[in-house]
Amino acid sequence: MALDTYNKKRDFTRTPEPKGATARKRGNSFVIQKHDATRLHYDFRLEMDGVLKSWAVTRGPSLVPSEKRLAVHVEDHPLDYGDFEGVIPHGEYGGGTVMLWDRGRWEPVGDPHEGYAQGKLKFVLHGERLHGGWTLVRMGGKAAREKRENWLLIKERDDAARPDEGTALLEQQDFSVATRRTMDQIASDRDRVHRSKGAEAAARRPAAERPAIPGAKPGPLPDFVTPQQPTRVAAPPKGDDWLHEIKFDGYRLLAR
Ligand code: MN
Repeated sequence: MALDTYNKKRDFTRTPEPKGATARKRGNSFVIQKHDATRLHYDFRLEMDGVLKSWAVTRGPSLVPSEKRLAVHVEDHPLDYGDFEGVIPHGEYGGGTVMLWDRGRWEPVGDPHEGYAQGKLKFVLHGERLHGGWTLVRMGGKAAREKRENWLLIKERDDAARPDEGTALLEQQDFSVATRRTMDQIASDRDRVHRSKGAEAAARRPAAERPAIPGAKPGPLPDFVTPQQPTRVAAPPKGDDWLHEIKFDGYRLLAR
C-alpha cells in the first residue's frame, strides 16, 4: 500500500510519529512542517488520495516568484502526520524537531492526478501563512523514476506574492501555527507531542493568548509596542491580505 515505505523507515516503538494506517479519504488539507533534521528543511505535504504527498523543501517556501525552491519528493505520509509536532528521537529516521509551520486547504488548478503524474501540479493555498497560486514542477520533464525526484516549488505572480521580501516570512513567523512554540521550545519540551485535533491545543493554550477577534491569530508578545495612531484614509488600502475589519464608532478599522 501507499504507506509501506513510510512504515518501513520508522520504528514506532521509538518515535512518537503516527503509524501509517490505511489511507482514507478526508479532504484537501495541506501542511508545512519545519524539520530540524540532519539538514534543516520544510516538509510540504498535500493531501491526495487519502495520504499526504510530500516534498522536502530545502530552504523553505519563498513568496518571491523568481526564487524557485528545490523540493525533493519523499515518501507518502499518513494523514495523521498533518497534526504532528514534536521531537523525533536522535538516531531514528528523520531524528530532530518538527514544528507545524502552516496548515490549511489546497485547491488544485486543473486535474491534480494528471498534474501529479505529469510533474506539473498547479494549486492555490488557503493556509494560515501561505496563500495564492503555487506550482510544483518536476525537474527533467519526464518521470525520472528515481527514488527521490527533484521538483521545484514556485510562487505564482499574484496578490499573495511578495517579490521584495525574500525570506522575511520564514524569519518573522518562526513559531508553530498550532502551539505558538518556537523550535527551541518544542525541542526542550520533548514529552509534549502535539497531535491534537484543535480542541486539545486550544484548551492547552493560556486564555490570554486566545484571539478575542474572530479570525485574529495570536503570536508571541513583543517586549514593547510603539504606540500608534490610525491614519484616516478615504478608501481601504489595496491588497487582499487584510485580516479583519472592525467597525468602531462610525469608523472602519482595517488591520493585518
Ligand atoms: Mn522531513
